[in-house]
Order: sequence, then C-alpha cells, then structure tokens
Amino acid sequence: MKRIFQALLIMLGQSPSKPSVISEAAQRIYQEKQQQPKDIAALKQELTRIRQGQYSKKWRQRRWITLILINLCFTFSFWLDLQLFEGSLIASRVFGFHMADPYSAMQVVLGFGLLSINLTIGTVTVIIFWSLLGGRGFCSWVCPYHLLAEWAEIIHLKLVEKKSVTDHPFHRSSRLFFWLFFLISAALFNYGLFMTINPVGIVSRALIYGVGLSILFVIFLLLIEIFYSRRAWCRYVCPMGLTYGLLGSVSPIKLTYHLPNCQHEGTCLKVCEVPHVLECIKKGKASDIKVPIGMDCTLCGACVDICPTQSLRFEIKGFTKSS
Ligand code: SF4
Ligand code: SF4
Repeated sequence: MKRIFQALLIMLGQSPSKPSVISEAAQRIYQEKQQQPKDIAALKQELTRIRQGQYSKKWRQRRWITLILINLCFTFSFWLDLQLFEGSLIASRVFGFHMADPYSAMQVVLGFGLLSINLTIGTVTVIIFWSLLGGRGFCSWVCPYHLLAEWAEIIHLKLVEKKSVTDHPFHRSSRLFFWLFFLISAALFNYGLFMTINPVGIVSRALIYGVGLSILFVIFLLLIEIFYSRRAWCRYVCPMGLTYGLLGSVSPIKLTYHLPNCQHEGTCLKVCEVPHVLECIKKGKASDIKVPIGMDCTLCGACVDICPTQSLRFEIKGFTKSS
C-alpha cells in the first residue's frame, strides 16, 4: 500500500527519492558489485552496438502492429459498415460492448449532466479492462496520438543530437493541474474544452471519418514536441494518461526491475517517456532485488528492448516465476 501511495505521488509530480529502507539482499548485491565489478569491456562493446541502433526492437514492433491494427479495425468497420467497432477510441461499441474513456466520461457528466446507462456500462467496462491490462498500457498499445508522438520524438532526438534544438522540460505536476482544470472548467461552463482539443479523439476520428480542421491542433502539438519540448502533451498535459495511470496501480501486469545483473549505465532512462519511474535503476536506489516499476509506466517495452543486461522484464502477478 505504501509503495502504491509513493508511486502515486511520483506520478503526480513528486521527485523520486532514495528509498528509506533497502533490503539486506539488495545491500548484499550492491556490495558484491563494488567488490567484483563486471566485465566493463564487454558492456562498452554492447553499448556501442546499442548506440548504433543494433539491438532487438521486438516490443516496439509488437506494439506498433497492435496499435495500428486496433485503430484500423475502427476504420474498416466504419468504411465497410460492419458495425463491429463503432464510434472512436473515446466512446465506442466493440462487438456490442459499450466502451467509454473514463476521463472523457467525467467531462460529459460534469459538463452536460448526462449519465446514461450506456455511458456508465462503457466506463466501468474500460476501468475493469485497463485495471487488468496495465493502465497506461492504453497509451503505448492503443492511443493513436502516441504513435505520432513517438515519430515526432525520433525527429526531436535527432535534432537534439545535431544540437539544432534543445529539450525544454516542464514540471510534471502540470498534468494534475490540467486534469483538474479541464474537469472544473467543464463543470463551470458546461463546455468540454478537453473533448474539443483532445488529440486522441481528434486522431481517432480522423482515421475513421476523415481529416477535419481540428487536425491542425494535432500538427501544432507535434511541432512543439519536435522543436521545443520532448513528448510535451503526454508528459505534461494529457489527463487521460494520468487517469489510465491510476487504473494501472492495481494491474497484475507489471514491468519489474531486477537488480543483480544491472550495470546502472542508464540506457533505459534515455528511451523512456517517463524516466522518473526508472529511478530504481540508479546505483543505491533500489529498495529490493526486484522492484515493480511505478504506475506511470506505459508498458511500452522500450527499456526491455534496449537493456543490455535483461534487468527489466514484463511480469504477470501469479503467473511469472520470481527469480
Ligand atoms: S498520455 Fe494521452 S495522448 Fe499520450 S499516449 Fe496516453 S492517452 Fe495518448
Ligand atoms: S519504464 Fe520502460 S516500459 Fe515503462 S514507459 Fe519507460 S521505457 Fe516504457
């Protein structure tokens, strides 16, 4: 419970700190690493390979294929009038089951005072579904804006490498501010501002019904992310991501960190959209030999792909053998 509460505070913007208690097993591992350092030459070789992009990107491939297929299901279902995937990712009916994004549903209830039975069923279904499947897994495995933002991030990082642009980070607590701001403004003005500017809905609807003028706002966001601030919308604004993060707190699917093999070189931090969740990989920061990664993790697998020592792994509580 304490761990969940701490992860929640970190997700809401608190800076991660050194654990107050480090288990004896973890302390022993840290001591062993100090006394018998691993083969640095082999690690350097591996890191050079990684820097040249020569490493498996299997989780990224699986994720991109899944994300594209899910979004295309909505597109083709509409085009061919199959009525299997109706609506968009914000509110839909999939094989007859209602689905509604929980944060958007809150906007509808507060802004327009509407609480239909279908909206309730759809919201509860999505809450149960993503509580089981890993909360922000929605972000990296389903959200169409995530894919566009990933491509923008690739360009941003290339420009940073060439020193053409620099990243401008903001305080992560801004997400909580926007989460409250959009809800309160919906309640006060009976207008769902978030629903108008939400890039997830805009891109999802554009893929299904065709591109409208609102796509200009998405292009504007992507330009900001390329030239000014890395992954700005998802990192500092999106209230949907924050809401799915809360659902992830109870999920049995987790990314876990295994201390024994880790070389603390920090390659995973460079590819992570939410590097604050990987604080435990820094020397002396893991509270135990196995640490579950916090609820802000999107389960994208980028760190699993890039880690040269297989110290980050996906696990399902009750199914994966502890090591
Ligand atoms: S944070 Fe928001 S926009 Fe970003 S991937 Fe998640 S749901 Fe999509
Ligand atoms: S911790 Fe790993 S899986 Fe989670 S968001 Fe960061 S890179 Fe992706």
